Amino acid sequence: MTRSKGYAGNILRVNLSDGNVDKMPTQVYADLFLGGRGIAAKIYWDEVSPSINAFDPENRLIFVTGPVAGVPGFGGSRWQVCGKSPIHDCFSYCNLGGFWGAELKFAGYDGLVVYGKANKPSYLWIDDDRVEIREATHLVGKGAIYCREKLKEELGKSFRVVAVGAAGDNMVSFASLVADNDATGSSGLGAVMGSKNLKAIAVRGSRRTVEVAHPERVRKLKERLRLEMGDRPTVIMPWLVNPDKAKKDVCQGCIGGCIRVTYEGRGGIKGKFMCQSSIFYQVRAQRYYGELNEVPFEATKLCDDYGVDTYAIETMIMWLSRCYQARLLTEEQAGIPLSKIGSKEFIETLIRRVSHREGFGDVLANGTHKAAETLGSKAQELITDYMTRTGYTSIYGARLYTTTGLFYAMEPRLPIQQLHEVHILIIASLLAGMGAQGFDSSKFIRDVAKKFWGSEIAADFSTYEGKALAAAKIQDRQYAKECLILCDLLWPIFYSRLSEDHVGDPTLESQVYAAVTGRDISEQGLYGIGERVFNLQRAILAREGHKGREHDCLEEFNFTVPLKGDFGNPDCIVPGKDGELFSRKGMVVERDKFERMKDEYYQIRGWDVPTGFQKRDKLEDLNLGEVAEKLASEGLLA
Ligand code: SF4
Repeated sequence: MTRSKGYAGNILRVNLSDGNVDKMPTQVYADLFLGGRGIAAKIYWDEVSPSINAFDPENRLIFVTGPVAGVPGFGGSRWQVCGKSPIHDCFSYCNLGGFWGAELKFAGYDGLVVYGKANKPSYLWIDDDRVEIREATHLVGKGAIYCREKLKEELGKSFRVVAVGAAGDNMVSFASLVADNDATGSSGLGAVMGSKNLKAIAVRGSRRTVEVAHPERVRKLKERLRLEMGDRPTVIMPWLVNPDKAKKDVCQGCIGGCIRVTYEGRGGIKGKFMCQSSIFYQVRAQRYYGELNEVPFEATKLCDDYGVDTYAIETMIMWLSRCYQARLLTEEQAGIPLSKIGSKEFIETLIRRVSHREGFGDVLANGTHKAAETLGSKAQELITDYMTRTGYTSIYGARLYTTTGLFYAMEPRLPIQQLHEVHILIIASLLAGMGAQGFDSSKFIRDVAKKFWGSEIAADFSTYEGKALAAAKIQDRQYAKECLILCDLLWPIFYSRLSEDHVGDPTLESQVYAAVTGRDISEQGLYGIGERVFNLQRAILAREGHKGREHDCLEEFNFTVPLKGDFGNPDCIVPGKDGELFSRKGMVVERDKFERMKDEYYQIRGWDVPTGFQKRDKLEDLNLGEVAEKLASEGLLA
């Protein structure tokens, strides 16, 4: 076992119950599972029993970086957190940006495994080799942002902090993790941290660089990337009241130029304002006040400080509004001003009551599905046309892009990286086609589909043909990316400024990995690691009750409710036959074709077609023989 470059070399383990701290060598996991999601999934497989619930002290919170973290120029300093999520008591994950992940690596660790439960409110203090569990009674019930800043004040600004807010303390099922630069992580893992009596993790590292195997290759690749992408302007969201108050806010070592900005609102309050979290209250606030206003920004800050997932809150508000209109819930019962949805008063009251589990907030704190169950069948009916089983809306879903139905069917949470691979290619290409003379976006999309998704027909959204292969290829690439961990807003690079046909080079990720670690690997070799990790996750989920084909399904609304629009693609425009554009508005998923797509997909995966269960020979081919043994002993193999 030779230690590869790029890695810090160790994974830190902390038992909060007895205070024991030790380390294990990263390389034990890195050869087969690379980093990020891969290493986290393997630790989870080895250590988390399928029979425990998310709040059992034996659940793990696994924080992992990748080999590229801390190496500037590639957008590779993101970090993953995995563990059993309280949303469905099964394995889940989240991915965060900012600086905390790279700081952990600078402290000498590729990952951190936290388990057990502290006997009083605590925070974890990591300063290189010195690791202490310290008392955090003074932080209980306080906001995540408050805690982060308070600890920085006490320990020094050079510490990076990930914390939970009141929602995490009170184990709200969709509580989030909040780190420096307001980087947030979902899947309810903030509640798991709260269940361990752990308020925050502060880390500081003295090693400010990462040793790479081939510095000259790394330098050339950075230069190549810069030329491939050109100067990427920071994208300012059009719904900012004062765009001049938005500033680019890049993650550690990133070349930037994405939508990540910090906004300064009224009263000088600053915070991250991008993606879904900047939009979740936008339309309602604008409708309520009749003009563009700062309440959506303030709502985002509130969610971050209380430590709740803005996406779960958005879908909850939709349901609350319907319940109120249908007279199934009154303002008095809820203790929330339901007639004032869109106002600051409404969002403040909702988030406070949920985070502190006050009154009806206690019901809502278990998630919209469980709250609807509590209110009865009429209230349950009000979510059936839009909400997925994980409590979100179905963005970039199967009614729009067909391929994405397979992602939704198989993942324990919103599979955003996989969805982005389809959506970003389509939307960015269509927009580029509108703006640039001589750029044939339809041809470009088909050329990309041929190179990245296995066939041109994968980019024809009027048919189910080619989608099973495309889905498997996308999953393998995205899982490899989540191991590395490269940022979703930069990778894969579909558009090249250097090649004649402008189609990007899919070997770039494997080149970056090889240059950093010294382990030469082909593009296919890297996808092979992605496939291994995806299969390992499938095995974990099987042990936690996922029954193959029977559970690889979509919510009924996908087959019965015509598509009205989609976040990010309101007119539902997609390429069809020969690249001809058409709208999928009004369309549904065709059940028989979806099932046939699953047959084809299972065949490509080497799984059993009738049941969707994994097979021993396939798992052995993927170097997962020990996983096959375990599944066989539990009757979970085909
Ligand atoms: S592209 Fe944006 S979100 Fe991604 S790592 Fe860079 S700054 Fe962070």
